[in-house]
Amino acid sequence: MPIRVLPDALVMRIAAGEVVERPASVVKELVENAIDAGATDIRIECLEGGKRLIRVADNGSGIPAAEVALAFTHHATSKLTSAEDLSSIHTLGFRGEALASIAAVSQVTCLTRHTDEVSGTLLRLDGGRIVAQVPAGRAPGTTMSIEHLFAHVPARLKFLKSVTTERSHIDGVVVRYAMAYPHIRFVLSHDGRPSFQSPGSGNLRDVLVEAYGPDTAAQMVAVDAPATEGQVAVSGYVGLPPLDHANRSKITLFVNGRPVQDAKLAHAVIQAYHTLLMTGRYPVAVILVHLPPTEVDVNVHPAKAEVRFRDPDSVFSAVQRAVRRTLLEHLAPPQPSSALSRPPEAYSVPWSAQPAIPGSAAWERIGIARQAQGEVEQPVPSSPAPDLRQGAPAQSADGAPTVGAGGGLPALRILGQLAQMYILAEGPEGLYLIDQHAAHERVLWERLMAQHARGELPSQALLDPVAVTLPAESASLLADQHDLLRALGFEIEPFGSNTFLVRSVPALMLQDDIAAALREIVADLETGEPVLRQALEARVLRRVCKRMAIKAGRVLSLAEMQALVRDLEACESPRTCPHGRPTMIYLGLKQLEKEFGRLG
Ligand code: ADP
Ligand code: MG
Repeated sequence: MPIRVLPDALVMRIAAGEVVERPASVVKELVENAIDAGATDIRIECLEGGKRLIRVADNGSGIPAAEVALAFTHHATSKLTSAEDLSSIHTLGFRGEALASIAAVSQVTCLTRHTDEVSGTLLRLDGGRIVAQVPAGRAPGTTMSIEHLFAHVPARLKFLKSVTTERSHIDGVVVRYAMAYPHIRFVLSHDGRPSFQSPGSGNLRDVLVEAYGPDTAAQMVAVDAPATEGQVAVSGYVGLPPLDHANRSKITLFVNGRPVQDAKLAHAVIQAYHTLLMTGRYPVAVILVHLPPTEVDVNVHPAKAEVRFRDPDSVFSAVQRAVRRTLLEHLAPPQPSSALSRPPEAYSVPWSAQPAIPGSAAWERIGIARQAQGEVEQPVPSSPAPDLRQGAPAQSADGAPTVGAGGGLPALRILGQLAQMYILAEGPEGLYLIDQHAAHERVLWERLMAQHARGELPSQALLDPVAVTLPAESASLLADQHDLLRALGFEIEPFGSNTFLVRSVPALMLQDDIAAALREIVADLETGEPVLRQALEARVLRRVCKRMAIKAGRVLSLAEMQALVRDLEACESPRTCPHGRPTMIYLGLKQLEKEFGRLG
């Protein structure tokens, strides 16, 4: 074929392909234009994932009547005048390509009124050609309606994904701009139903609450590193471990208010979490980098999704340092003089003040009389070294939790395992030694008690019923307590003299040695004074927990330790096991300083 210059319409279509890849690209360009126009309120409506309609309405400056048609021609922009401007771009748009490209592959209706003009303009285009232009009324601002995107471009249409997929791409775009511009109110709807809304309060945290939900947002802390000599300012929010995510998709990056995909920048954020997250898990972070426009080239990608830094290393290290410092500030011991840094002695719970029965609230919930407390073995602390405090500083004197949340335990960072028995964890103000068995007992206990209180203690039938023979006296006791055991998930039936057949057990016990367990449970029921039924039930469940809790001597992976400590943090009474013994011992930094002769 001979060489030919392509007809204009075809050139436009090819060019449009670079900018307009899918409905979300249109939303991105229109939202950027609204932001550049100084809008404080941007409303986005989509039908069928944007395939049928995308409408973006803003309250920005509007377009003067004389320039509306021009806005839709190629290389038409109000944002650049000279080549020098290109090296200091302060607006999101600058290429003057978006409207022309969008118009080339859809039907556009533009209703706009410039703030300085008394009436507005309605302009209609089909496939890039103007079909109507008339004066029309509107409050200052612009509404762009894009219909039948790619209707004339079958190749593109074929590559569009399902409505759900296109919709979620649009959501992603709008959420990102809402994060970068928290003072702008964004309202997004799909097929007439609200999908996302930001309040425009100027506070990024408010946007995070809308985007990620209050639970996740509450686990994020502000990053604020103003520009220093390097001229790179870093702000945003980062998730505190254990908040994490399965992939990098929740690392959101902006450079000068522009959402960017930059693997190296994302890596800088990931590096800042080094050792704080499990391998294979990724942070949740929203990072905004600001630097002089001369330090960054935004003109390297047709959709402006990538940027090039003049001095990449300084940007990456500024991000890494800012994030790391924020994380350490929130995870490590606070500095003296803050309310949290009182010596642990000031607010640790003395051992004698610990309730004899932990989780008494749970007990009351299931109606166990207080007198039941009498039958719990009183823990005898084995005269701990004076520098080790049992129980941990849980609450400051004014009752506010120190750090993190969850049953009065601060957020703990796992350091490792000691003697296959203890989990070592760093918390604010010191080291925690957690007894893995006692901690797991506590977790199981609260879970079982809650299930029991709701009458939902799961029972599981054994594939092969287990026959257990007991001494005559125990056998008659077991027969007496048949109902009680049944309520806890044991299905036991007589099977000849002094022998019983166990058919079902509490689901937790499925892997247990059932015969041995039953003997222990019967022994528990035999000991001591006759007590209330609820107390006997508690005895049985305590035995179940004891048997099923992780044993000392078991090597735990980091993930197992993290999961266990997280479960413990969620407990009502995390500091003692169901038998009243401590689950943890705390060694304060102050005490360490004393021991090492650093103090007084
Ligand atoms: P660019 O944003 O790169 O300048 P566009 O094709 O996106 O190019 O827009 C062309 C011009 O149209 C802009 O420079 C701006 O002057 C005007 N414009 C587009 N959208 C709006 C809007 N929502 N409000 C005000 N002016 C707009
Ligand atoms: Mg633009």
